[in-house]
Amino acid sequence: MSSIIISGREIPYTLKISARRRTLGLRIDERGLTVHIPKRVPQHTVESLLQDKSEWIARKLAEWQDRPAAMQWQDGAALRYLGQDIQLSLRVDARNRAVEFDSARLYLALPNPDDDATVQRKVAQWYRKQALVDFTRRIELLAAKLGVPKPPMFLSNARTRWGSCNSRGEIRLHWRLIQAPPHIIHYVVAHELAHLKEMNHSPKFWAWVEKLCPDYSTARQELKALSAQLHLV
Ligand SMILES: [Zn+2]
Repeated sequence: MSSIIISGREIPYTLKISARRRTLGLRIDERGLTVHIPKRVPQHTVESLLQDKSEWIARKLAEWQDRPAAMQWQDGAALRYLGQDIQLSLRVDARNRAVEFDSARLYLALPNPDDDATVQRKVAQWYRKQALVDFTRRIELLAAKLGVPKPPMFLSNARTRWGSCNSRGEIRLHWRLIQAPPHIIHYVVAHELAHLKEMNHSPKFWAWVEKLCPDYSTARQELKALSAQLHLV
């Protein structure tokens, strides 16, 4: 393994040489930094690329290190629902039982509770169901407050956005938001509804958001800080 010094810190990296590559490429994941290069690229070219990209490398590595540990789909696992910690309760049952929730625990009874993919899918299904009910109610309330007709709403699974509003006035909200505290969901709904008034992020737009959600800037920051956590499920 080679290494490079970035702002006084030694960063190890793996060099991968490929005959089919034409360009140099960097990748950062759980294994650290990997540099993909075509054949016959001199070492000093690699090093100067890494120096050019040193800010990006440092930032991406820090993001990976701050990433919360992966979700373990086992009995007793901690989940979140509307900002509350709830516990996953897994039980073997000859048949798939309907998911039950008692405000502290989410009960899943199924033939194969060791099958992570199935457990994850069932939990996600439950979240989606709750999200649909919760978001619909919030949209109704806030649309009335804004004085606009209730827009069509869909659940989304977008990788990078919590909500969106298109030119047809349809609102999409990410189902994983149902894990967040209510005031954060309130902010995202307010944000997307305000787009029915202003299709941009101008001061006029933010004034509408503020009308529906006076504390929007705190909620916005909290959501940013929470995002990686919400994506674990
Ligand atoms: Zn927006």
